[in-house]
Amino acid sequence: DLPGTGTLLRNLNPEQYAAVTLGPEPSLILAGAGSGKTRVLTTRIAWLLSTGQVSPGGLLAVTFTNKAAKEMLTRLSAMLPIAVRGMWIGTFHGLCNRFLRAHWKLAGLPQSFQILDSGDQLSAVKRVIKAMGLDEQRFVPKQVTWFIAGSKEDGQRPKDVEARDPQTRKMIEIYEAYEAQCQREGVVDFAELMLRTYELMRDNASLREHYQRRFRHVLVDEFQDTNRLQYRWLKVFAPPQAPDGAGPQGVFAVGDDDQSIYAFRGAQVGNMADFEREYHVRQVIKLERNYRSFGNILDSANALIAHNAHRLGKNLRTEAGPGELVRIGEHPSDYAEAQWLLDEAQALHRSGVARSEIALLYRSNAQSRVLESALFNAGIPYRVYGGLRFFERAEVKHALAYLRLIENPHDDTSYLRVVNFPARGIGARTIELLQDAAKVGTQSLYQSVGAVAGKGGNNLAAFNALIDGLRERTRGLTLREIIGQVLAASGLVDFYRTEKEGAERIENLEELVNAAESFVTQEGFGKDAVALPVDETSPGAIAGSPVGAAADIPAPDAETGEIQSPLAAFLTHAALEAGDNQAQAGQDALQLMTVHSAKGLEFDCVFITGLEEGLFPHENSLSDGDGLEEERRLMYVAITRARQRLYLSFSQTRMLHGQTRYNVKSRFIQELPEGALKWLTPKHQGFGSGYAREYQSAWSRGSGLGSVVGMGRVEGRPTYAAPPPPPMLQKAREAEHGLRIGQTVFHNKFGEGVIVTLEGSGSDARAQVNFGRHGAKWLALGIAKLTPVD
Ligand code: ATP
Ligand code: MG
Repeated sequence: DLPGTGTLLRNLNPEQYAAVTLGPEPSLILAGAGSGKTRVLTTRIAWLLSTGQVSPGGLLAVTFTNKAAKEMLTRLSAMLPIAVRGMWIGTFHGLCNRFLRAHWKLAGLPQSFQILDSGDQLSAVKRVIKAMGLDEQRFVPKQVTWFIAGSKEDGQRPKDVEARDPQTRKMIEIYEAYEAQCQREGVVDFAELMLRTYELMRDNASLREHYQRRFRHVLVDEFQDTNRLQYRWLKVFAPPQAPDGAGPQGVFAVGDDDQSIYAFRGAQVGNMADFEREYHVRQVIKLERNYRSFGNILDSANALIAHNAHRLGKNLRTEAGPGELVRIGEHPSDYAEAQWLLDEAQALHRSGVARSEIALLYRSNAQSRVLESALFNAGIPYRVYGGLRFFERAEVKHALAYLRLIENPHDDTSYLRVVNFPARGIGARTIELLQDAAKVGTQSLYQSVGAVAGKGGNNLAAFNALIDGLRERTRGLTLREIIGQVLAASGLVDFYRTEKEGAERIENLEELVNAAESFVTQEGFGKDAVALPVDETSPGAIAGSPVGAAADIPAPDAETGEIQSPLAAFLTHAALEAGDNQAQAGQDALQLMTVHSAKGLEFDCVFITGLEEGLFPHENSLSDGDGLEEERRLMYVAITRARQRLYLSFSQTRMLHGQTRYNVKSRFIQELPEGALKWLTPKHQGFGSGYAREYQSAWSRGSGLGSVVGMGRVEGRPTYAAPPPPPMLQKAREAEHGLRIGQTVFHNKFGEGVIVTLEGSGSDARAQVNFGRHGAKWLALGIAKLTPVD
């Protein structure tokens, strides 16, 4: 052991040890889930720092999510007594933001440029389409947005995109106009952050050399999910051939081809092979021991992923023993599934598992709604990652728009959002006039107000005066005070006071003040903020400084050393933040997220819900083999999140996008080893027997006839007493369709069956019929033709 690093390296196995202590050469660690890739990467950073091989400012580390970046900083500060804040550790977007803040002038951006989140971006694209007089039916804003993002992720500006056909040619024109509009307004979207940074590094030799010399070590986690542009980005910061006299740069990439789940967004798993070749990696290190999960969980993951043909090939083993069986269960409906899950989670919590150690995973965001409402009704704290984020809620975005205008009045997206919100007599006609005037003079809306005459013009001028006044009045105030002033002076709070459901919105606005407050304390802004120690090798670029955490906090201006105001930094943070503000900070809450956002994380107990054909694997993936393999990798990611206990569940019916769907269980279930599973419901009998029936009572949708959930508890275990529906209600049900429970009916496809359950009314009426050989089916009575036999 090197002196002083004993404790750091003691808990590594030989392969991990070898990886951590590799020399400054390009390295690739290829290893399965839970084998310690992230741990190796983090330990390597700590080792490099503690042995003095690199200074905090000489390190660049990229992770995929804000959560992962924070996690890494936390782990790091636990290992080393250094100030990790201000280190270049963050997401690609966060690091690009930091870079562009430092070099805004060279990048051709205004100093106070703002970041467009996906919602803003869509409305910006819509404005362009409208201004060009194009039809939204032919140029669907969402598709145009994808086109633009896709082009940027391929490193293509409008002039680089091939105009294959007239439609594409028009799209390129929109792309061009969109770029011009963003530039005029001083805003950048997420893909632009990456592309701008890449281009500036590519085109500016002295800057490139500076950073290549500066970053002695560059580390990338989850390398399998980098897209083409991200890989090129890596190559400009740490090229295979270091500049003359700069000495070797350590490039350390870790990844798992079996966890590549972003192909749909342009991720190139082939980047791993390219990296190995282009960087002349001498030896790919593999880690095969899994430290996260027990044997049954791991066996399930291994068996599942073995069904994929395109793999680099590796297996995982554990020495932890088999552990518990993987629990699996079938439910009559998504609602019943949610009820069951909620009870199970509560039981786990009562037995001592922290809520934050229980994850509820689902394939699609839309699935969270039913889970959320069940949790909400039961008063169980939960937190959703990657859903509708706090900063994306309408009222919060309104408040942020005012704040952004204080920073930069030329931000037309924000201007349009609030110029007449709350209403101040500025109609659509006035705004059209203003937009026309702005277009002629190629100026911002704010600048063009003088061109609009009459009452509308006066009202616009008053709005400008409001913004200017706020800017004057809030100068030098704390973030909290600024937001307070804005909420009052904008009229937002007064407006929501008069609204019927405004109370919750006002709460969210108050929460914004809290968010600002915790931003200030966490990130070191505010009165205690210390002057930045400037990295001597680069005027203006910060070394490991006490100010700023992760990469949300940008470096100061490279020339002047000026740093962003707390307000500007907070606005950046708001645009980059991935939903961490959902539940109250610090509260122990169940963790809800899509499988995609669970990447890299781990929990004691994991529920994977909605294992149904069409949902998981997703129906969009079923047409081609590649799509199905990506879904399987996604399932592999989901399974391998669990440390101790894994639950799988599926349901026969599900409300999605306003429709009831009747589902078949996912093929992935068949791909799991029988010996590792424990069925909570009878396995082949399908529905209608034993356990599943217990949950019928929980299935009520408030569709008029649905009975109230009958739920009781016996000795702390959840039970589902199934009270028979009151006789009157039962009568009503029978009368409506002329069907009754116990009746034998004939169905064209499934033949004869017995009605087990009748639910709902009108177009929502449904029956559960046991068809013997075909098993039990839920049928929508409005569609299915059931002929009484007896
Ligand atoms: P994923 O592919 O899911 O991102 P990973 O390969 O990055 O997984 P880590 O998250 O680094 O894996 O590690 C998984 C778990 O195993 C962590 O809790 C980590 O602390 C633990 N672990 C890793 N290596 C060891 C070890 N040598 N001794 C004890 N625990 C370890
Ligand atoms: Mg990891």
